[in-house]
Amino acid sequence: MKYVIVSGGVISGIGKGVIASSTGLLLKTTGLKVSAIKVDPYMNIDAGTMSPLEHGEVFVLNDGGEVDLDLGNYERYLNITLTRDNNITTGKIYIQVIEKERKGAYLGKTVMVVPHITNEIQDWLERVAKIPVDDTGEVPDVCIIELGGTVGDIEAAPFVEAMRQFQFRVGHENFALIHVSLVPIVGGEQKTKPTQVAIRDLRGLGLTPDLIACRCPKPLEKSVIDKVSMFCHVGPEQVLAVHDVSSTYHVPLLLEQQNLVRFLTKRLNLQPNSIPDSLK
Ligand code: ADP
Repeated sequence: MKYVIVSGGVISGIGKGVIASSTGLLLKTTGLKVSAIKVDPYMNIDAGTMSPLEHGEVFVLNDGGEVDLDLGNYERYLNITLTRDNNITTGKIYIQVIEKERKGAYLGKTVMVVPHITNEIQDWLERVAKIPVDDTGEVPDVCIIELGGTVGDIEAAPFVEAMRQFQFRVGHENFALIHVSLVPIVGGEQKTKPTQVAIRDLRGLGLTPDLIACRCPKPLEKSVIDKVSMFCHVGPEQVLAVHDVSSTYHVPLLLEQQNLVRFLTKRLNLQPNSIPDSLK
């Protein structure tokens, strides 16, 4: 199983969901089976009790799971059917750990965020990633994991730490990270400082970006890509420019033009069943 993590820095609502769905869609075009998990770092067990005014509409899955709208994006982009377990919340993880503690499952140990909560998160990811998501009933090849919220938030901290551990649990060749960041335009100039700070924070938490997706109102200038590359210690080919588009269904094309599939195929040693044009 290969995992592609999509995290975000600087601000929320930056387009992680769209980039996660688009990445999944592009991998699917190569014939790979793709599943998706959304992590929502809030204490609610699910989105069912949350006001749509605060959180947007609740998306209801086939199994009755009331979840975040992003799960709807995944189902539409990837033509798959997900379960309530494909949406992890802090509440779901904590209740699981507390119930286990009441049953004495931890054999007298002091139950802690590290390792008990972080282990529960990793076990959940591994278990749910393997659930078949289409009629074939086959185990997916790749699981896209979108980490909701912003890296650096208190809420996201146990999940970020779980991801840090997860890269070693599953191995470097099975774990790739796309970090979505913001390049604002101030006084007509595309500014890279928020991205530099976001990547420094990410590295400080033990995660290294394989790709930095820069959201910007306008197409990113070449000099700005080079600057992100230099200051964030990645190659220019690891900087993806994702500008505002009229329809989010254009985002997969934008990513494909920048050789996303080629990069992930190499990085994760994927075995595509069909070779897209960009790989020929
Ligand atoms: P996040 O997952 O980071 O909260 P979403 O993927 O849900 O962000 O996107 C937030 C909003 O921004 C959505 O309304 C989405 O349609 C819009 N959006 C995302 N990417 C783009 C883009 N490249 N161009 C225009 N709108 C976008």
